[in-house]
Amino acid sequence: MGDFNNILKPEEKLGGKPVLLQDFEEFQWSMEECGLRDLTQKGKMFTWCNQRVGIERIYAKLDRALVNGEWIHQYAKSIATVLIEGVSDHSPLEVQFQVQMQKRRTAFRFFNMWCLSTDFQRTVERSWAEKVEGTCMYQLCQKLKRLKHLLKQLNRIQFADIVEKANREEMQLEVMQQKLSLDPGDADFASFWEVEAKNDASWQWKQILKVRDQRKLGVVGSRWLASSNGKYTVKSGYAWFAGNETKFRDLQSIWSRMNVPKHSFIAWLAWKKRLWTKDRLTSMHMAVNDQRCLLCRLQPETIEHLFFQCTFAAVVLEKLVQWLGCRKIAASEARWRMQILNMWKGQKINRRLLWAVIAACTYHLWEERNRRLFQQLERSPEQITLLIKDEMRGRFLYCHKRKNRPAAKINL
Ligand SMILES: [Zn+2]
Repeated sequence: MGDFNNILKPEEKLGGKPVLLQDFEEFQWSMEECGLRDLTQKGKMFTWCNQRVGIERIYAKLDRALVNGEWIHQYAKSIATVLIEGVSDHSPLEVQFQVQMQKRRTAFRFFNMWCLSTDFQRTVERSWAEKVEGTCMYQLCQKLKRLKHLLKQLNRIQFADIVEKANREEMQLEVMQQKLSLDPGDADFASFWEVEAKNDASWQWKQILKVRDQRKLGVVGSRWLASSNGKYTVKSGYAWFAGNETKFRDLQSIWSRMNVPKHSFIAWLAWKKRLWTKDRLTSMHMAVNDQRCLLCRLQPETIEHLFFQCTFAAVVLEKLVQWLGCRKIAASEARWRMQILNMWKGQKINRRLLWAVIAACTYHLWEERNRRLFQQLERSPEQITLLIKDEMRGRFLYCHKRKNRPAAKINL
């Protein structure tokens, strides 16, 4: 408790220079790190004033009482009051422990569950070992009395929510039993490895079962195929799920310095199939009126279609490929990926440059799609190609200047 000479939130200051994130983020971070939080506060909001007049006057909350979880358990109703500052520029704080005064006395009872706590044995041993002077009976009484308080404390810290927890679990059990009595063959209660996803099951549950099925493919009898000794390990499991997608290293080229950051981001989402195309929206049960691609208005909109198969995208890609002096790009996505990875080989073209153009193309196709969807504005493939070329020229010059490195050996 005291003067921390810093605020926690912008609204804790009035007047003076505007508050910046760096002014308080360190304080916020250290509070989080130490598991501390503000004690409930009563009275004035600001605890400090620079005592100036007019526009030079600044108010701020610089003094506070910080508490941890244990404190809140023990003194749930404690409160800090900001008092009148008097002659100082800071206001004094007063903390009240209301809970202790209002507590009703109850008889002490021992709970067997305390023995489950790892702290139990230690607490009893330590307390019992402490010396008490007096007759044997007095010693025993004093030791029991002392222990009683410590065990109550242990109960408050470790078993405070036990009643709530028990009630919750009892309710869950009741629901499951009811469900089971209505439908004894319910698949939810069959073994995890045999359960089939129902049509109305949640998306998350379907995903979990999908991963389970992939894992099942790796097991023959009781042998796990992905490791040499047939035993499942996390490492071999990871390799199994990662599959042949070792192209991840190449994916990093998307983040190269030559790329415009916003292009990188959209290209990365497209590569990971995380853009909200119409087919994805539909699969998440969101209403989509027209499934068709907004660029060609012919085929359904999917990631593969939008960036690889769409006739509109094909024109843009074709023009860019010609500009770069590369071979033609394949239409199918799988082949396209392979070709992207191979096409820079043996060609007089910088690999990072190629990725920058691909990322830009992805970004602008997606942008065009959104312009058509949300603003009803259209551009031709030629306009988009020109835009990308201009942007790329600017970017290459910028990177070239910054690093003083020869740019790609192509005629821009
Ligand atoms: Zn299309």
